[in-house]
Amino acid sequence: MSTMQLDIVTPERTVYSEQVEMVIARAAEGDIGILPHHSPFVSPLKITAVRVKKDGKEFLVAISGGFIEVRGDKVTILAETAELPQDIDVERAEAAKERAEKRLADKKKEDIDFKRAQLALDKAINRIKVARSR
Ligand code: ATP
Repeated sequence: MSTMQLDIVTPERTVYSEQVEMVIARAAEGDIGILPHHSPFVSPLKITAVRVKKDGKEFLVAISGGFIEVRGDKVTILAETAELPQDIDVERAEAAKERAEKRLADKKKEDIDFKRAQLALDKAINRIKVARSR
């Protein structure tokens, strides 16, 4: 099985750097599956779970915003935050989800904090989903 290099990088650290067989990401124009020898490609990524296949096994990575770039046999995800399933603190994500839900229940829709709370909720739900995929 041919492979390609996948690097997942945040402003803090390199979260993942391995040879993988496939990457599936929700890009701006829909889900995109990337196999080795894919044509060059750049897209923004929203809060999403990126699916990675390595050694025949699939796992999810929680990403909150950034970019995916495919160039040669290298896929780079530059993300605001990125966590592997085993690195996610589920209690923390559950607490963030509850906080966000409370804020959303209190606020009016036009309030700027409403958007922030919605994003916080999306991030927490994404993290819980990825943590539970183990
Ligand atoms: P919280 O409200 O719980 O602080 P947050 O969504 O505000 O979460 P971020 O600003 O997205 O947190 O991330 C800050 C840092 O904390 C990043 O390094 C991110 O990877 C990490 N992080 C956030 N939530 C979790 C979690 N549930 N488990 C592990 N790491 C997390």
